[in-house]
Amino acid sequence: MIPLDLSLAEVPGIPAHAARLLGKEGVTTVADVIALMPSRHEDRRQMQALAFQAGLVPSCHHVLITKTGNKFFGRAGVFEAVVRHATGLLGQQLTLKWWNMPFMSRVFAEGQELIIYGVIKDTKGRLSMSHPEYEIVKGGADDDAQQIHTGRITPIYRLKGAMTQKALRVAAWHVLQALPESFIEDLLPTPSGEGEFAGLSRSKALREVHFPASMERLEQARRYLALQEFYGYQLRVARRKRRVIESGGRKQVGTGELLRDFFNELPFQLTTAQQRCLDEIHRDMASGNPMNRLLHGDVGSGKTVVAFAAMLRAVESGRQAVLMAPTQILAEQHARSARKWLEPLGLRVALRTGSKREDGDGLDLMRGKSSSTKPDIVIGTHALLHDAELMHNTGIVVIDEQHKFGVAQRAKLIRKGDTPDVLVMTATPIPRTLTLTIYGDLEVSTIDQKPRDGVKIITKVRPKTKQKDAAKFLREQIEEGRQGYIVYALIDESEKLDAGAATKGHEEWSKLLAPCEVGLLHGRMSAEEKEDVMKRFRAGKLDALVSTTVIEVGIDVPNATVMFIHDAGRFGLAQLHQLRGRIGRGENTSYCVLFVDDKDDENRQRLAIMEETSDGFQIAEEDLRRRGPGDVLGHAQSGQAPLLFGELLADTRLVRLARQLAERTLDEDPQLLRPALAVFRDEPVVAEKAQAMMQ
Ligand code: ADP
Ligand code: MG
Repeated sequence: MIPLDLSLAEVPGIPAHAARLLGKEGVTTVADVIALMPSRHEDRRQMQALAFQAGLVPSCHHVLITKTGNKFFGRAGVFEAVVRHATGLLGQQLTLKWWNMPFMSRVFAEGQELIIYGVIKDTKGRLSMSHPEYEIVKGGADDDAQQIHTGRITPIYRLKGAMTQKALRVAAWHVLQALPESFIEDLLPTPSGEGEFAGLSRSKALREVHFPASMERLEQARRYLALQEFYGYQLRVARRKRRVIESGGRKQVGTGELLRDFFNELPFQLTTAQQRCLDEIHRDMASGNPMNRLLHGDVGSGKTVVAFAAMLRAVESGRQAVLMAPTQILAEQHARSARKWLEPLGLRVALRTGSKREDGDGLDLMRGKSSSTKPDIVIGTHALLHDAELMHNTGIVVIDEQHKFGVAQRAKLIRKGDTPDVLVMTATPIPRTLTLTIYGDLEVSTIDQKPRDGVKIITKVRPKTKQKDAAKFLREQIEEGRQGYIVYALIDESEKLDAGAATKGHEEWSKLLAPCEVGLLHGRMSAEEKEDVMKRFRAGKLDALVSTTVIEVGIDVPNATVMFIHDAGRFGLAQLHQLRGRIGRGENTSYCVLFVDDKDDENRQRLAIMEETSDGFQIAEEDLRRRGPGDVLGHAQSGQAPLLFGELLADTRLVRLARQLAERTLDEDPQLLRPALAVFRDEPVVAEKAQAMMQ
């Protein structure tokens, strides 16, 4: 039994040089080794008793050294050890080679037996293996039982700096041998008695994930450890959720008058899905507990009216409603809708963006014509966060396209309210597992239906050489009274280049489409310029709009039916889906063309899913599948991944189970809370990473 903070140099069995190598990279204690997870395993159980065979696949052999020596070629040198099978049955020879490592002559001697693992090469009938993994067999049953590197399912680790596989493996082996039999984690209510994890404890599971008896045991052990990890995480989420509820909110019931007038005036009826979500929201608001809800719906599902109806309930209750959007263009669009729909009801709508501060009568407050009463509805960008005056007795805070905001910004806005109800909205399709992780403390309402399910968007991936044909098509659409977007990709992080591509594109398309009016929109234009362009496009004075991805979120111009996206290969699928959501918003069939380089088959294949479906969920899942969660999140993939064993996407069932166990702990075993929370300290990191994955 060893303490977790014991230095590796003092762990019995770990050679001093191995401890030193690892120490250089910060792996110095027993705990440091336990915090590593092999990045993969190699099955080296099968010892090849048959002939040595050249090929691409490494193989494992038990051999006997017959001759050793150093050879030199000019300045290069190679140490060679000639071996044959230890069984001696086959007279075949194999030469093991180590380049520029003359000191290997001190490691090997004739007559030694080795287990070797590597790829065999055939050079004109001479077989060789360069830099094999090896283990010297010293003989005796004990040592045989202790094969660490070969003859088993062998762990392969991600190395840093001077580390070697062997040093790490030896250290892991001896640490795991000496591990304490029980950990604090074993107190956690993992259902170890039930079949799936029967007989496992943390130390057993740790041994199995490094040196598994079988691939099945490896996976079982990983899942056991993942469950513990998720449990610690979900315990925090569940506790936070309870705290919010306990903090108490105000009942917002309202008279129903404003809502009645609002719906009377609205040119359409809510879809069933919208109505259901709105009912859920109103029920939350009417209760004494603060609302903390996510309104989740694909692009074009109609989240804005639902938000307005929620905001009206707050106003009916004598309080103020605030809506925050991620871009100025979007905030202005919301303000315009609010003025159209809400001002006739006698409400005052204020707009606050980085460059603008208007009160309900369109007066510019920045120029000092401030009015005395506070607005009923405040709409703005994050500039709201710096404007305490506008907010007063805020009963609801709505955050649109919430994935564009940081957790801290959201919290800040909520604090400015007066224990407000909170509604966050997103179009990002989130797999179920991630919902529990990112939004584990929120209730979720999903608008799973679009108002105009009938409207089709036809999408095609085309080589960019087809631009002329596309121009002809767009011109026809324009002649029928429609409009189009032409989007240029972010070429690199610099807005300057980005704007450059769009500016050049604007010249080209102005010629291609002449005499149609073509506008230009990019992030480097001033707020007024942007607003002016959007105004003209919305009014139909511009037939086409060349733009960067500033139009990505939220823009709603129903008459636009065409979208061309240049260099579509540079975009993620989720982002393309967002962009495409700008069309198909009216009555008319819409068309999206994704331009890729002529011979870019890889992207043609990747983008094919866009031709097949407009279902955001399907696209997002395909996206995650392709990118692989490991890229962004994965357990062992990044040196300091917050989740060592769990895989957020794959372990859905475990995440759910962990949540149940966490709820049970809070209900039944509160004394477990402290030790349990100590198990997993990185919760915010996980949430941020999970969120990053979705962007
Ligand atoms: P998103 O969910 O992407 O934010 P919006 O709220 O911008 O979607 O709505 C998309 C478009 O659909 C808007 O033009 C909106 O006025 C319209 N819309 C919303 N709900 C309905 C409905 N029930 N019937 C018809 N049109 C609707
Ligand atoms: Mg929206």
